[in-house]
Amino acid sequence: MTAFFDAHGHLLDAGSRQPDYPRVVCGTCESDWEAVLAHAISDERVIPMLGLHPWFVEGASPKWLPRLESLLRSHPVGMGECGLDFARKDTDRLTQEAAFRAQLRLAHDLHRPLAMHVVRAWGRILDLLREEGVPPAGTMVHAYAGSPETARKLQSMGVFLSFSGDILKPDRSKVRESLRTVDATHLLLETDGTADLMRVLERAAEIRGVTRESLAAQTRENGRRCFQELFR
Ligand SMILES: [Zn+2]
Repeated sequence: MTAFFDAHGHLLDAGSRQPDYPRVVCGTCESDWEAVLAHAISDERVIPMLGLHPWFVEGASPKWLPRLESLLRSHPVGMGECGLDFARKDTDRLTQEAAFRAQLRLAHDLHRPLAMHVVRAWGRILDLLREEGVPPAGTMVHAYAGSPETARKLQSMGVFLSFSGDILKPDRSKVRESLRTVDATHLLLETDGTADLMRVLERAAEIRGVTRESLAAQTRENGRRCFQELFR
């Protein structure tokens, strides 16, 4: 049987069919952290991650960080998703950076894998990763949409790059170009909670000129390396 792995998703609506392969489910704000934990307890194929997503930084309660830290200390969960999104209008970049830096430090201190969301903030993400160091328990960028050159820089720092259903969209040729050139050893595939993993896998295999089976096996092995102890 072919082995699959979905490197990034979210809680699916109640009633929707839960996939039967291992997958990463990320919490994004204080109100869904407990639900992600409960879901991971009910489904052993789920790797739970908890974080404060850049979209929700400004609406977070003053206690979000100690609360997140105590959940991470008391449960086997990863850190994320968190990161920087400078495509958002009127966003407070400094607040986003402070929240991301705090979560990056937690991933280091608690030795947890880290899942990052990065949109139009490549220069700053690279700066922050250089300043704080890349967390050694596994670090990935989800829905990678940067250039092949940025991909090379991230890979050389040991960061895994995950590609989403964006590769299926006709207007995303730059994403396909990055997917074509990324090292097989640092490549992951994901649904982001919306795409069909088999379609992403098939298209990615076509773009890279490899078989679907070998790509499935490679990305699952990379998932094991990226999420380490949390991989189930
Ligand atoms: Zn996500």
